[in-house]
Amino acid sequence: MTSLNSQFDQVFARIHKAEQASDREGQVKLLAVSKTKPANMIAEAWQLGQRDFGENYVQEAVDKITQLSRLKGLVWHFIGPIQSNKTRDIASHFHWVHSVDRFKIAQRLNDQRPEKLPPLNICLQVNISQEESKSGVTLAELPELAVAVSQLPRLRLRGLMAIPAPQAEQSKQRAPFKKVADALESINREHHLTMDTLSMGMTGDLEAAIAEGATMVRIGTALFGARSHKE
Ligand SMILES: *Cc1c(COP(=O)(O)O)cnc(C)c1O
Repeated sequence: MTSLNSQFDQVFARIHKAEQASDREGQVKLLAVSKTKPANMIAEAWQLGQRDFGENYVQEAVDKITQLSRLKGLVWHFIGPIQSNKTRDIASHFHWVHSVDRFKIAQRLNDQRPEKLPPLNICLQVNISQEESKSGVTLAELPELAVAVSQLPRLRLRGLMAIPAPQAEQSKQRAPFKKVADALESINREHHLTMDTLSMGMTGDLEAAIAEGATMVRIGTALFGARSHKE
């Protein structure tokens, strides 16, 4: 067994155990975060059956997406900060964007989504614990943004994403995830939306995220090893 194979097995074991602990078996999708990792590593993961990959840097991602276009069934998720001048590349190469945090960006993605492609799946990034990275809409501003994005025809609002400040203890990790899960439920109810995705949980906190209802965990380090540059 290759080391990539055993790292995927270990991550699936963690996910499965956390799902069982919350009676949520089969409800969590693994998004493999491949930023800074070469295309051949993604191809190796594809051979193991992985289909969903997350990328943070537009040019690096577009290069890999182009190189790997012969692989069937790949689903590309953009999860990094979004600059206005990159929205066209994102709208034309990705299936999902998890990091939308203002209407202007959503509007551009909508307008630039190619007609031949289905609507782009969107998660709104919520700034839940005043993380230093200033990305993310506040909880106060979230409902209005969600309603506005849900009305853009070339986008499909799927849910919420969050990156809480790192905490070592699982007991402390859960509270911010719960806030995101509660926000999704209350916005769906009050505004008659049908968001179905909670993109939350990384290598250090996937158990806490799953306990609070994550439907997609974004895992890099535990699958591909530490990243050596750019961060
Ligand atoms: C890098 C990154 C991840 C993966 O983090 P790990 O701790 O390596 O699992 C997840 N989500 C986002 C938004 C990231 O930028």
